Amino acid sequence: MKVFDYIIVGQGIAGTVLAFQLRLKGKRVFVIDKHRDDTSSKIAPGTYNPMVLKRFTPCWKVEDQLTPLYDFLDAFETSFNTSIHVPLKLWRKFTSIQEQNLWLEKSDHDRLMPFMNPSFISNPHEDLNADFGFGEVKKSGWVDFLKLISIFKKRLISEGCFLDEEFDYNSMTIKQRSLIYKSISAQKIIFCEGHRLTNNPFFNYLPLMRTKGELITVKLDGLNVEELIKSNITLLPLGNDVYKVGATFNWNDKNELCSVKARQELLDKLKELVNINPVVINQYAGLRPTVKDRRALLGSNPNHENIFVFNGLGTRGLLMSPYLALQLIEFMEKGVPLDPEVDIKRYKNEIPC
Ligand SMILES: Cc1cc2nc3c(=O)[nH]c(=O)nc-3n(C[C@H](O)[C@H](O)[C@H](O)COP(=O)(O)OP(=O)(O)OC[C@H]3O[C@@H](n4cnc5c(N)ncnc54)[C@H](O)[C@@H]3O)c2cc1C
Repeated sequence: MKVFDYIIVGQGIAGTVLAFQLRLKGKRVFVIDKHRDDTSSKIAPGTYNPMVLKRFTPCWKVEDQLTPLYDFLDAFETSFNTSIHVPLKLWRKFTSIQEQNLWLEKSDHDRLMPFMNPSFISNPHEDLNADFGFGEVKKSGWVDFLKLISIFKKRLISEGCFLDEEFDYNSMTIKQRSLIYKSISAQKIIFCEGHRLTNNPFFNYLPLMRTKGELITVKLDGLNVEELIKSNITLLPLGNDVYKVGATFNWNDKNELCSVKARQELLDKLKELVNINPVVINQYAGLRPTVKDRRALLGSNPNHENIFVFNGLGTRGLLMSPYLALQLIEFMEKGVPLDPEVDIKRYKNEIPC
């Protein structure tokens, strides 16, 4: 029997960040993840920014989240002697004079001042349509999710702490202070299964909604944009005039299949922004683990206090995961209460009798 402190099920961004943070604290962690190419974490562009750009408001608790994010990225890059993080200028396209005025007004607010450059940027790119120019958002960037996940997985495999399989809930024996899964014993288990939480008998009462999103990668010869551009789509430069364009939001489809409709929607929006004919290189689809009240899902099972969940990262998995992972660790290790806004106790009325 192999003995660990924690088993983590699911190695998307949630499981990766949590496992990395636990290992930094000296914990022995075993990860079980069924390989799939189309998970939310593997298809997401991996951008972050501190604002909600529709309304020019700060993201939820953003001031608490940026330091843990930067600390995590620094520690990860140091630990693996690699580079996964690229700070980027984010330019929000204005659609009217009214939006410019709102930008100016909001950039004077205390909470937004650190993130907003009050001056307008006139459009320097002749192939971009932006007559009213842009507003620049500071503290934005991009993280190579695929590299993050694959490097970490390789390390876990090399240390004999990784299993590529679908977790079989019936093969787990729950004891008072430990759990046994096949030949692995651990004190605690944490489920980080993204939208597949709906199959988990310990947590499927939680109201995970799942919102489908699609993206395309395109070649836009001669565009030469280096900023992250945000209009009614996001244009992420990947180098050599290749760009990731996304994303759609679909609350009805619950599958991970690419659709002609989403591709056309993205191309139509791209045409409004860029004057160059795109060559589509690829298309991706995934399901975001979204929650009814737009807050994450953290906590322990009501009947088994050594079984935990870390989920509901929604549209901002990158920004939120390091901050929330640290909070969950404090809860599991020291009993420090979770923020009631993310604690799954808020859904106690949904627990089946
Ligand atoms: C189109 C799109 C664009 C996005 N863009 C961004 C962005 O730019 N920035 C950002 O921060 N966020 C973005 N998001 C959101 C972000 O991708 C999610 O918040 C995040 O990936 C959720 O990560 P997760 O680890 O919870 O879930 P997942 O990524 O779904 O990972 C779960 C993992 O667990 C495994 N698994 C599940 N159940 C089991 C089981 N029972 N046994 C074994 N393995 C299991 C799965 O195979 C998977 O590997 C985007 C999402 C979409 C769909």
